[in-house]
Amino acid sequence: MQDRCPPAPAPQEEQRRRFLRRMAGGSLVPWLPAAALAASPDDTARIALPPSQAPSEVPEKPSELGDPPAQRVGFAVVGLGRLSLDEILPAFGQTRHCKAVALVSGDRAKAQKVARHYGIAETAIYDYQGFDRLADNPAVQVVYIVLPNGLHAEYTVRAARAGKHVLCEKPMANSVAECRQMIDACSRAARQLMVAYRSQYEPNNRLLQRWVQEKHLGRLKEFISTNAIHLGDPGQWRLKKALAGGGPLPDVGIYCINGVRFLTGEEPSEVWGDIDRPTGDPRFREVEEAARFVLRFPSGLRATCHTSYGAHRSQFLRLLGSEGWAELDPAYAYQNLRLRGARVVGGQETHLQPSLPEVNEFAKEMDHMAQRVRDNQRPYSSGEDGLQDQRIIEAIYESARSGRWVKLEQPSNPVRGAPPPAEG
Ligand code: NAD
Repeated sequence: MQDRCPPAPAPQEEQRRRFLRRMAGGSLVPWLPAAALAASPDDTARIALPPSQAPSEVPEKPSELGDPPAQRVGFAVVGLGRLSLDEILPAFGQTRHCKAVALVSGDRAKAQKVARHYGIAETAIYDYQGFDRLADNPAVQVVYIVLPNGLHAEYTVRAARAGKHVLCEKPMANSVAECRQMIDACSRAARQLMVAYRSQYEPNNRLLQRWVQEKHLGRLKEFISTNAIHLGDPGQWRLKKALAGGGPLPDVGIYCINGVRFLTGEEPSEVWGDIDRPTGDPRFREVEEAARFVLRFPSGLRATCHTSYGAHRSQFLRLLGSEGWAELDPAYAYQNLRLRGARVVGGQETHLQPSLPEVNEFAKEMDHMAQRVRDNQRPYSSGEDGLQDQRIIEAIYESARSGRWVKLEQPSNPVRGAPPPAEG
């Protein structure tokens, strides 16, 4: 009788297939991770509709309803600028556990317009002087601070005093001292504090973190990254030291710093920095135009990074290991991230470019906060994570001033809460 089984793959081919499966996120075939990673591990209501596509297609996901409105965690959004209006408020519609229930703005007419659009009660509009009255609004559990960086500390401390949990935009604050005040205020009030590092909740970043953890790249040698944008208007707050804390380094360079720390789980022991402050350009009277910096890690890994306010938008990262490389290009963007990797498997150079589902990073990040508030657990990107980035930023500026490498102690406390559950 003829054997109906396909012939067993040669050992090298089997090794190669195993690699592809693991690199793709652990699903059965490498082109399935999109569905696998999209499947959510939590227990919100889902409705499975009959499949409409051929079995050879990516399986259709059940429809996810999220929590009913009465059970969602209520957020107050503080500051109605570009990020709040263009990204955060629309993202509530894609969350499973969150709802916007209050607004804080200095412009009442704008806030009323926004409140009408999102069905927020007019009585839940506050101005900055009346911010502390949030204490009297039990519908607000989390205060999401989306103000210029120099105001993050003040509003975090006031929110904690009002008995609210805090989700704070990056960078956490303008100084290590402010970060510590924020952590202390939330800890005294027994409230959770999370820094809005949205990339940590995004599937491509999380898969790359897993490749590193599972040693697919071998021993890590080098992280290379740029995060650059080109700013105009010299009058904007991003170019004022008191409101911004610095130039591109704390604003967009922080993604490279947080990225290498998040992806590798390592903390630098030494940093070197160099900044450009061109004279005669009205934009750079108070802050740098560009910074380049190197972080040395105890394992021997180095991160070589660049950030700028004077170059056309460019955002990428690449990790080089002894046995493979991986890159995100673009990295740090809100959408269309592209992950690629390569290593030799079974004697062949093997490339992988997983195609993961697009997610709304802000919705993912807010859902994480809501779950941690409900579970009374420390968020993954906690205040200590933001504090550690600020320590590194200050060391880079110090190195740029002194022209020397600056040593950093390893953090004394764990920098993150427990990781969010694996998806897929
Ligand atoms: P923006 O200038 O568009 O908005 C800032 C808001 O703060 C405005 O509504 C402004 O009126 C208000 N504000 C209150 N007090 C102010 C003061 N004293 N001076 C100036 N503005 C004042 O800025 P944005 O781009 O929305 O950034 C807000 C925060 O979000 C910053 O911390 C920034 O770093 C962060 N951000 C994060 C991301 C991300 O991807 N996570 C992206 C952009 C911005």
